[in-house]
Order: sequence, then C-alpha cells, then structure tokens
Amino acid sequence: MERRPFVPVLIVVFMIVVAAIVISSPGTEESNDRIYQIGTLEGLLNGDLGGKITVGELLEHGSYGLGTFSGLDGEMIVIDGDCYRVAADGSVSRMPPGTPTPFASVTDLNDDEGVVRITAANYTGLKEQLLSALENDQAFCMFVIHSTYSNVTVRSVPGQQAPYPPLADIIEQQSVYHLEDVTGTLIGFYAPPYIGTVDQAGFHFHFISDDRTLGGHVLDMELSDVDVMVDQKMGLDLDL
Ligand SMILES: [Zn+2]
Repeated sequence: MERRPFVPVLIVVFMIVVAAIVISSPGTEESNDRIYQIGTLEGLLNGDLGGKITVGELLEHGSYGLGTFSGLDGEMIVIDGDCYRVAADGSVSRMPPGTPTPFASVTDLNDDEGVVRITAANYTGLKEQLLSALENDQAFCMFVIHSTYSNVTVRSVPGQQAPYPPLADIIEQQSVYHLEDVTGTLIGFYAPPYIGTVDQAGFHFHFISDDRTLGGHVLDMELSDVDVMVDQKMGLDLDL
C-alpha cells in the first residue's frame, strides 16, 4: 500500500515524455505536414467539374484550404475547420458536409510554422517577398495572413450545368468585387513550377472577412505591414 503514491508520479512522467515526443517531431511525415488535394487543375481546364468527394470528407484532411464546388459554383475557403462558399453574387454561406467538390486543397497549420514580415504594398509585391523568403522554392507551402486591408479585389464565378464548359469560358463570366477597409484572413498556397497542370503553379490566395460575409478568389490587394504565417509542407496527397 505504501507504494501507491508512486503510481500517479509515474503516469505524470509518462505523459511528459509522450508530450515531448509529439512536440519535438514536427518535421516528420505526420498527416498535417502534407497537403491533401482532390482533383486537378487539368480537370478543371477541361470541364471535369462534377463532385468527387463531399465537404465532410474533405475536412477530414485539414482545417485550412481553398477550392471550388461542383459545377464551379463559387469559390471555396476552408478556415478553422469550416467550409465557406463565396457565390458569384458575392454572398457567403457555410456549406453543409454533404456538399460535393471536384477540386480543393486542404491542410493543417503545423507546429513548425514561421512568421515572415511583409512590407509589400500589393499582391505582386507580396508574392515576390514570399518567394524570396521561402526556404525551399521546390516545396509546397501554405500561408495564413490575418489583417485589415484597405482593398482586397476578389472574384467569384457562377455555377455551371453539365455538360460543363472549359474553365476559360467560365472565368469570362466572373464577378469582381473591391472590398474596402475589410478585416479578414487570406489563406494561400504555393506550388512549385514542376507541378505542371496538377495544380496552379506559384501562389493562389482566397480571402474571407472576419464576419464571414465577404470573400473570394484574390486578384489583387493593398497591404501595409503584415505578418504571414508560413507553413512548409513535406508532401502532396492527390486523389482523383
Ligand atoms: Zn481560387
């Protein structure tokens, strides 16, 4: 009986050791160190716009990301484990788990994220500074930027009916919105040039406001100094 007090001590020691192992291994092949992608850019370009998985299935692979919906019906942004759609009319809706998607990328923010201070004044400058800040421009990266912006120019696109037209024809129908003095989050990805037509090479950002009423695919923005969370990824998991 006199040995009993040692049991809780041993449990506490064991828990500390386990916690230390988890925290000290961010660079290993954990699921949240990878990007999950459903569909390809090549498919979108050629009108392969039918749903492949549901939003519920997509969210099993990550809490941050972007994409689109069946029939290219609006712009998708995934933030804090919730999936939103910015429709062509600019309205924003949280989407139920059963909603189908033909193309999306998600991941989780990893422990090894770093913060890069960006002084650029616009989207072109942001991309240039992020590219020069990347430790490895042959790897994939996710970015999260929360700030107040004097202007974010976004677009969304109208949903299409099968047989679906090529992407270029749909982009011609895009709606463009200039959001002014808006506070929100930009979520973006960098894909290296060798990605070809699997995904969009370079940078791709979507925006959503803090009040979840404004957003879209980013065409341009005005910035003052912002902190960018940079999360380099160890791999890409692609489902077709
Ligand atoms: Zn987009």
